[in-house]
Amino acid sequence: MEVFLVQPRGFCAGVRHALEIVQKTLHNNGSPIYIRHEIVHNKHIINDLKRQGVVFIDELAEVADKKRPIIFSAHGVSEEVKQQAQKMNLNTIDATCPLVNAVHKQIRKLEQIGAEIIVIGKPTHPEILGTVGQLKDKNKAHIVSNLQNAEQLQIEPAKKIGIVTQTTLSVDETKEIVGCLKKKFPSLIHASQPNICFATTNRQKAIQKLAETVKNIIIIGSKNSSNSMRLKEAALHYGAQKAWLIDDASEVDWIEVDNCPGIGISAGASAPEYLVEELIQVLQQRYDNVNIHHVIVAQENINFK
Ligand code: SF4
Repeated sequence: MEVFLVQPRGFCAGVRHALEIVQKTLHNNGSPIYIRHEIVHNKHIINDLKRQGVVFIDELAEVADKKRPIIFSAHGVSEEVKQQAQKMNLNTIDATCPLVNAVHKQIRKLEQIGAEIIVIGKPTHPEILGTVGQLKDKNKAHIVSNLQNAEQLQIEPAKKIGIVTQTTLSVDETKEIVGCLKKKFPSLIHASQPNICFATTNRQKAIQKLAETVKNIIIIGSKNSSNSMRLKEAALHYGAQKAWLIDDASEVDWIEVDNCPGIGISAGASAPEYLVEELIQVLQQRYDNVNIHHVIVAQENINFK
């Protein structure tokens, strides 16, 4: 079995930053601690943190012991949530990725200059709820989640129109959407630099190279992880015949994989590396000869303090 291991894969700087905050909070305060929403979208990380005494909640009203710390997830939160926490006198710690904070700053600026704002992303994703939740007037935001939405969008063209995006979108699809919006609204500002982050971009570039190298690709990641889902779509878009998004090695479809001469492996930005290592061990136990090839597309040296 030829195994092609792509790089970069797995944890991004924002996920490492958020998990470090959780570990420090547990170390300094003991358990339980609360986290509003899944700190990052990965089943294994969530289950592991639950075992360490983390209580995950959807709303601040669920905090049973107000003296315990509560962490906001890497996806960011709205101003309303922050104000509610203040009113409730909660001990909050913000693990929002600095790159999401930068998008918050940008959307607030757009509101200050009186722009109508197009937000490209999934309307129910916590990052988009947090981003739109920066606005004093949420009616200023027009959420566009696909090309069809963009084509149908109605805003008076004479108005000042700005644009921000979710950080974990498909680079190619977003380019298409922005292209369509630029044609419709020539006065669009901030359209040249969608907010898709370096980690999402690098992982999608890497999967493109991988799909050009090998036709069957396994991506380790959870199905509610936006960047992992986009990796699966990108793999198929760039020529892979099969792409599987699985949480761990126990979900491998062996009937399919046994018939593959080679397998490519990647992992979403919230998937821990030990799951990739476990998958390789399982492959080594199953097949007599496993040859590992490294497909290195970019090196990432970014860390957030
Ligand atoms: Fe931050 Fe990008 Fe990672 Fe999201 S995917 S946490 S924006 S670095």
